[in-house]
Amino acid sequence: MAHKLTKTHYHASRFFDGQSIQENLRLTIENGLITSIDKHPQPTDFPLEGLVTAGFIDTQVNGGGGVMFNQRPSLETLRTMRKAHSLFGTTAMLPTLITDNLDCMQSAANAIAQAIKGQEAGILGVHFEGPHLSMPKRGIHSSEQIRPLSEDEMAIFCRQDLGQVVVTVAPENVSQSQIIELVNCGVIVSLGHSNADIDTVLKAIDAGATGFTHLFNAMSGLTARNPGMVAAALQDERVTCGLIADGLHVHPYNCRLAFQCKGWQKLMLVTDAMAHVGAEVETLPWLDTQIIRNGNKLTLADGTLAGSALDMSSAVRNLHQNMGVPLESALKMASLTPAKFLACSNRGKLAVGMQADFVLLDEQLCTLGCWIAGIQVTHH
Ligand SMILES: [Zn+2]
Repeated sequence: MAHKLTKTHYHASRFFDGQSIQENLRLTIENGLITSIDKHPQPTDFPLEGLVTAGFIDTQVNGGGGVMFNQRPSLETLRTMRKAHSLFGTTAMLPTLITDNLDCMQSAANAIAQAIKGQEAGILGVHFEGPHLSMPKRGIHSSEQIRPLSEDEMAIFCRQDLGQVVVTVAPENVSQSQIIELVNCGVIVSLGHSNADIDTVLKAIDAGATGFTHLFNAMSGLTARNPGMVAAALQDERVTCGLIADGLHVHPYNCRLAFQCKGWQKLMLVTDAMAHVGAEVETLPWLDTQIIRNGNKLTLADGTLAGSALDMSSAVRNLHQNMGVPLESALKMASLTPAKFLACSNRGKLAVGMQADFVLLDEQLCTLGCWIAGIQVTHH
């Protein structure tokens, strides 16, 4: 006896398949997967007016919906964050824990393990940003908690029940053998919050680091005789860079420069979002101070940038409309590139056999609706 499948047909007026934008396509979804895509002039049961494209994958999300992962590391927080970001087209994310004590890291890992075990929609794993970072490039990370990598943190990073794990380290604060150990455990090592010189950076890449965390921000810059983190990030074809395209963290000119160097293949959009996305938050308590919002800019009282209020659809829009990146490339940098970075082969583009994670965008690239595994998770 054949198992009865739930089957839904959507009709997309415009559709991005990962290569080009086409018109009037019918998308068939069965049990959360795309089972066919074909030309179809007539709107079917579910017409989608706008541009249908692969759901956004955000590899760096500190908070959303009024909550921060660090401040309340629980499954409930993960759900709140995911829902807030799905309003802006995010269908999968790595909730990101910034530098904190071991207890908080354990709680965060436990919450992620619960989400992975329960197949919580949209949670792919976890990003630990710190605590093995550079003191001078720590940004808003707690100076008291920045520390060397011990067996305790290694045991957390190497847990096998966390889905895909990304760990941001400063290469001058970890050894090559520690990077090799992380990579051998399946961890994706990203370099960031670092003041390293080029030799140290290249050794870390040789050891298996494949990412750079928020390119240009909190890293040694490029000067005549000191190529630093930035030059390695731009030049080395082995690494994928995250980019915060809010027009505040990185000058639009530098975003274009990064795109010229890396292409969409090795440059991915991230939000680095705080609690502010999808919620009205003015001031956010932070360590012994607070984060202040001024327009879309979040800072400490001394002006240090403190994460973003950016969402993924705004990042795509900024990159395309203000930074001259073609729409198809900008869309891929929010979906296919992070999927490849995470070795997530069933997401990142809309094709037969892929998970039906998609977003419906209007002419201004604002999110009209968002679906995870074929189920609508937003209702505007
Ligand atoms: Zn950071």
